[in-house]
Amino acid sequence: MTSDEAKRKLIDAALILDDAGLGDFTRGHVSVRVPGDDGHFFMKPHSFGLDELTMENIVTCDMAGVKVAGAGRRHSEVFIHSEIFKVRPDVGAIIHAHPKYSVAFSTLDVPLLPLSQAGSEFHDGVGVYADTIDLIRSPETGARVAQALGKHKAVLLQGHGVTVVGRTLEECVILCMSLENACEIQLLVEATGRKPKLFPMDDIRALADKMSVPEIYNINFDYLARKARRKHG
Ligand SMILES: [Zn+2]
Repeated sequence: MTSDEAKRKLIDAALILDDAGLGDFTRGHVSVRVPGDDGHFFMKPHSFGLDELTMENIVTCDMAGVKVAGAGRRHSEVFIHSEIFKVRPDVGAIIHAHPKYSVAFSTLDVPLLPLSQAGSEFHDGVGVYADTIDLIRSPETGARVAQALGKHKAVLLQGHGVTVVGRTLEECVILCMSLENACEIQLLVEATGRKPKLFPMDDIRALADKMSVPEIYNINFDYLARKARRKHG
C-alpha cells in the first residue's frame, strides 16, 4: 500500500465513523501507520470534523507525538496514538472517540459481557482507564492509557470515551462500531434489572474466531466506505 492509499483509507474510515454517529463536534481522532515506516503515523487533524479529512490536512506524526508533515493542526491527544503504537507492534490503526453508549457504559462498575454477537468480539475483556476524565495530553498519560489497554482490542476511558485498536484500519473501524453496539445492548439489558443469560464461553469463542478475520472486516468496511462516498459525493 502507498502512503496516498493509506491516507485515502483514513478519509474513508473517518467518514464511516461520522456516519455511524461516533463523532463529537471536532473531537475524536483516527490514525494509521505510514506504510513501510513504523516510526510515523497519519492522523486526523484538529479543528475539523471526521467528515472533513483531506489528503492535505491529514497530519503525519512521529512516535514522540511531534507533527512532521500535513497542513492541519495536531490534536493535543496525539499521545494516545504514539504511546500505543510504541508498545503494540501488532497494532496498525487506532481510534479514539466519544461514542454515546460506550461512554455511558464506561461509568458503570460492571465488566463488558459477551451478550451479543458484537459483544463476542470482546469476550477476552476490555481495558479500563480511570485515572481522570480529563484529556490525555502528555506522553505520560498516553502511556497510562496504553498500559490500561494492555493486550486488549479496546480500552474504556471512564466518563470520557473509548480507544480501539486494530491490525488494520478496517478492523479498527468495525471493532469501534461493534464496541458501541455491545455497550448499547448491555445497557438495555442492565436497564431491565434482570440477570442476562450467557452462552458457554466455547460457543462465544467459536463465533468470535469466525468474525475476527481480515476478510470479514474488509467486506464490511468496504461496504460502509461505498455507502459513505455515495452520501458525501
Ligand atoms: Zn477524548
